[in-house]
Amino acid sequence: MLKSKLPHIGTTIFTRMSALAAQCNALNLSQGFPDFDAPEALREAMARHVMAGHNQYAPMAGVMQLREQISIQLQLHRNIACNPDTEITVVPGATEGIFCAVMASIRPGDEVIMFDPCYDSYQPSVELAGGRAIHVPLTRDRFAIDREKLQAALSARTRMIMINSPHNPSGSVLPLDDLLFLQEIVERHDLLVISDEVYEHLVFDGLQHHSALQLPGLRARSFALFSFGKTFSVTGWKTGYCVAPAELTAELRKVHQFVSFVAVTPVQLAVADFMQAEPDYPAGLSAFYQRKRDLFCQALESSRLRLTPSSGTYFQLLDYSAITHESDTSLCEQWTRQHGIASIPISVFYEKPPEQHYLRFCFAKSDPVLAAAAERLCEI
Ligand code: PMP
Ligand code: GLN
Repeated sequence: MLKSKLPHIGTTIFTRMSALAAQCNALNLSQGFPDFDAPEALREAMARHVMAGHNQYAPMAGVMQLREQISIQLQLHRNIACNPDTEITVVPGATEGIFCAVMASIRPGDEVIMFDPCYDSYQPSVELAGGRAIHVPLTRDRFAIDREKLQAALSARTRMIMINSPHNPSGSVLPLDDLLFLQEIVERHDLLVISDEVYEHLVFDGLQHHSALQLPGLRARSFALFSFGKTFSVTGWKTGYCVAPAELTAELRKVHQFVSFVAVTPVQLAVADFMQAEPDYPAGLSAFYQRKRDLFCQALESSRLRLTPSSGTYFQLLDYSAITHESDTSLCEQWTRQHGIASIPISVFYEKPPEQHYLRFCFAKSDPVLAAAAERLCEI
């Protein structure tokens, strides 16, 4: 019989909580996806390309119109120059891009540093490549990088650091100063970087997203991952892209072409059309989601939940320690069944979960759903 290569892994918490929410007819603020639709022009473009017969394989690295639009927008929004031919690869979701980047880089015995709480796909990808995940906890108060702990985790076998900003699940945003510190470390230790920037356009309160691609020392060593699912509210279209120097991109593509080969053709064409027609669309996202965050947080004022407003992503952590000290995994299930409100426990994103009591709520939801969710939470 098959001996599991991932014996400790079950079905992801996102799938489990969304299924439980559906089963209990609960408000689903668990899995991260919008409950409202994508821009109409984007959906129309998709339908148009499907009906026009653009339904066969795209080029392996992605449709060139789309890679050109990505390159134009990186220049426009972030002042980053990159070559669409040799440095951009369209992937069927950032998850696949991360997997391919790890597979292309990590050999048995290599160590990969990741910061806890970390996204659930990171460690399994590293393990399947034969590498070892080294978990460094973010600080308890602000979910920031603990420089001493990071330095202590480095060894002669460290090959890569994985970072994620804006950060899922905490909503923290990496300050430029920390990125500069990371740059110094990766240059000194000759490391690769995976920079997961799928929430790049969702930053609040006047903060800035700093991309690893904007710092030359990181740019030279990073696979940076982005997702159209987040930016254009089409998580089910599973399309994103990876930007990396030509040498890294060539290796990424060798894996990508045998994992999925290509991303979906009409999706790529539709996104390219939409990006060309509305190049400033991403600039409106921060204000859009900040308003939703504020609506949700303000409606929770009379609750017994404590919160620090999230600085980025579309997730808000709520501290329930004034209500109970039960584990987050059993509480989120209980609240889904008893109060009709589904969330995500964050202990599952840690190697060693600390003594803390947070649940994660996704506020990419329509205003009435956010208001109803807050009302239910206020009653607990
Ligand atoms: N990284 C993080 C931090 C995420 O939250 C997500 C969300 N799904 C992904 C990667 C994967 O994105 P995609 O759906 O494009 O695979
Ligand atoms: N990224 C989404 C979240 O954090 C879920 C993605 C998934 O279900 N794999 O909720």
